[in-house]
Amino acid sequence: MHLARFPRIRLGHMNTPLELLPRLTEALDGPEIWIKRDDCTGLSTGGNKTRKLEFLMADAISNDADVVLTQGATQSNHARQTAAAAAKLGLKCHILLEDRTGMNDLSYRENGNVLLNNLHGASMEHRGPGLDMNSEMEAVAEKFRKDGFTAYTIPGGGSNPVGALGYANCAQELILQSTEMGHAFDHIIHATGSAGTQAGLIVGLKALNAQIPLLGIGVRAPKNKQEENVYKLAVETAKKLGCEGIVSPKDVVANCDYVGPGYGLPAKSTLEAIDIFARLEGILLDPVYSGKGAAGLIDLVRRKYFKRGERVIFIHTGGAIALAGYLDSFKI
Ligand SMILES: *Cc1c(COP(=O)(O)O)cnc(C)c1O
Repeated sequence: MHLARFPRIRLGHMNTPLELLPRLTEALDGPEIWIKRDDCTGLSTGGNKTRKLEFLMADAISNDADVVLTQGATQSNHARQTAAAAAKLGLKCHILLEDRTGMNDLSYRENGNVLLNNLHGASMEHRGPGLDMNSEMEAVAEKFRKDGFTAYTIPGGGSNPVGALGYANCAQELILQSTEMGHAFDHIIHATGSAGTQAGLIVGLKALNAQIPLLGIGVRAPKNKQEENVYKLAVETAKKLGCEGIVSPKDVVANCDYVGPGYGLPAKSTLEAIDIFARLEGILLDPVYSGKGAAGLIDLVRRKYFKRGERVIFIHTGGAIALAGYLDSFKI
């Protein structure tokens, strides 16, 4: 693995901190719980898409793009980080937002990530639920091309082999931090959605032969589908890196028991996890991704999935700005 071979533009504040969560560890009375603060990547309130965008935006610029298009759910963190990255690089940004959750209140439709998209100067249009959003976006990109633009499209979540390089890079960063601290880690756990984060991490961990099991907590698809999506992208990403053959299906593990009522709809366990992290550690999670990932972490600790004395890393993938879009979920 030799990431410097790929074009990259620095957008984030890295390395992100890797820290112990002492009060959460004590309260759950299980393994040592550590956090990798990818919510602190710095770009417009941060989050995991920043690492992917470092490679995606560099690819856009190599292709002479003057407009970047992407798509996501209304409160997409990926769309917001893309809008910010485009602003920073002086590119136009156009976003397609899918009304995926059926939520219709003002805070969901206009606050949180949507507010920031506007502030970054992105243009937006909406789509109803259930469409193939990537093909909707390609159709809009064609219109831009007819108008003389050089359009670059980024798939939902920035999850393709270029974007996943950002998380192969994160795996490398984590292993170096672990080496410098002199602490071995036994598990890594994080929220998994469009699959790029997990696929990139798997490829990076395998390329380094780190031997740390990785568990993705699903936020949308059922387990089989999620594992299939991650595996497929991991295989393509390994190939791009010149490491063909290093990923096997058994490396890809997702637990999709914490999705609750559906994508973007917090479960009771999501709200409990948000409450626990906020009160014990002063850390903000989000109702769509990291709150579900943390709900999985908390439940698995309670069920003794991890051994006492083990060290577990929770990768905080960001998203807390979406809390402002979910006023109705929190009786504030
Ligand atoms: C997009 C996102 C994820 C999931 O990452 P994928 O690469 O799409 O699987 C997790 N947490 C947050 C906050 C996100 O915005």
